[in-house]
Amino acid sequence: MSCIFCKIIDGEIPCSKVYEDDKVLAFNDINPVAPIHILVIPKEHFDSLIDISEEQMDIMAHIHKVINKIAKEQGFDKDGFRVINNCGVNGGQEVKHLHYHILGGQKLPMYEA
Ligand code: 5GP
Ligand code: ZN
Repeated sequence: MSCIFCKIIDGEIPCSKVYEDDKVLAFNDINPVAPIHILVIPKEHFDSLIDISEEQMDIMAHIHKVINKIAKEQGFDKDGFRVINNCGVNGGQEVKHLHYHILGGQKLPMYEA
């Protein structure tokens, strides 16, 4: 059974798309915790960051290239922004499909470790 983010990639569940290419999809988080809250996900399903092998690491560079592009499009190069990856149970990961949060649009509060 495919996961919720795979269903978004397949178009089974709608999303508010921000960016798409052959490897990556970015869309607005359904429950934003900042004025701008975008999720960036690989189209290939990986449970989490820890499940990517050395041979598959090219996707990480690509995801970061997309984050850089989106951040500039949002005007974050001036005031900054935050990128978060929650990994596994202790990291608070709820959706088991690798994703990065891009948060911006205000001075973000410091978080507790
Ligand atoms: P995590 O805690 O796994 O790092 O974050 C999962 C994120 O996915 C949450 O911020 C949550 O709001 C978001 N999310 C969960 N389901 C959906 C959905 O169906 N659509 C969108 N756009 N975001 C979702
Ligand atoms: Zn998935």
